[in-house]
Amino acid sequence: MFEYVGVIHVHSIFSDGTGTVPEIAEAANEVNLDYLILTDHNTLRALNEGYEKWYGDTLLLVGVEINDRRNKNHYLAMNIEKPYSTRLEAKEYVRLVKEEGGIGFLAHPFEERNNLPQYPPYPWEEWNTDDFAGIEIWNHMSEWMENLTEDNKLQMALHPLKYIIAPSKKALEKWDEIAQRRPVTAIGGVDAHAHKVNVLGLFELEIFPYKVLFKSIRTHVLLDNPLKKTTSSHGIEKAKASVYKALENGSCFISNYYRGDARGFRFFAETEKSIFEQGATIFYRNDIKLVATLPEQAEIRLIANGKEILRKQKTALLEFTVTFPGVYRVEVYKRGKGWIFSNHIRIIN
Ligand SMILES: [Zn+2]
Ligand SMILES: [Zn+2]
Repeated sequence: MFEYVGVIHVHSIFSDGTGTVPEIAEAANEVNLDYLILTDHNTLRALNEGYEKWYGDTLLLVGVEINDRRNKNHYLAMNIEKPYSTRLEAKEYVRLVKEEGGIGFLAHPFEERNNLPQYPPYPWEEWNTDDFAGIEIWNHMSEWMENLTEDNKLQMALHPLKYIIAPSKKALEKWDEIAQRRPVTAIGGVDAHAHKVNVLGLFELEIFPYKVLFKSIRTHVLLDNPLKKTTSSHGIEKAKASVYKALENGSCFISNYYRGDARGFRFFAETEKSIFEQGATIFYRNDIKLVATLPEQAEIRLIANGKEILRKQKTALLEFTVTFPGVYRVEVYKRGKGWIFSNHIRIIN
């Protein structure tokens, strides 16, 4: 497998971000991102104006974050040609994105920030749909805002990465629940805007520069073939298709770079004859072994059908012989703080 590390869910000046697309691409390049998915609110201007391409070693792809007329049900839609109207019901745009051959992810579905009235939450409310490819289970901006109070806001603004601990529990629960019915991918997002905030009326602080945010929540995709850097539109389409295929199939995992570089993490199922990667659905048999390997020692937890069934401290290897069908995934922690969250391997009857 070929591993590529990227950042998903970024806003530019085409919606409410503060950076231009080339500035964002440059920041991504500086922190060695292999890909970046831009998702401005309700516009594909960056796509239409030709910004979808390689910038040095970074492939910049253009999706869109759609919302409904109440500004709820934010949806990260990718691999589509036109943004959908905010007059549509969420269920409609989720269906239309799929019909067009695109993929979509429920953005910050259980956002709960209620500490500051000027920053209301934007949760997902339309659960009567099954046409989405996945869920953004971890969103940097949501978690940061949820922890924000009048008293801690200076500390939080000075240390934008430090207080990011783990994905939302409710999002994990919902994701595990759906996965028991059908494949559903988890991705991580940063929701970067590079907003400038006036701190205590004293100075303007940019929370947070794109480059800083790009060192937090990342989504690693695992591909069968390497991505080729090219300026040809055919070549870009090909690279784009393989990144989106991996996201659609759950051949990916989420890491918080602030806790360490997770490149090299693997979680797979092994039988006598075959290897099955994250995102796979396989039939139960009695010789399936699950294996997780880490680039450095940490705490690994094995989760089956939403419940922790095994925990190992200070290890770089976890092995488990499967004795019952279920949807399996691993979580990795360093000193109690979330580092890596795998996608599921679904073992069904
Ligand atoms: Zn949003
Ligand atoms: Zn957003």
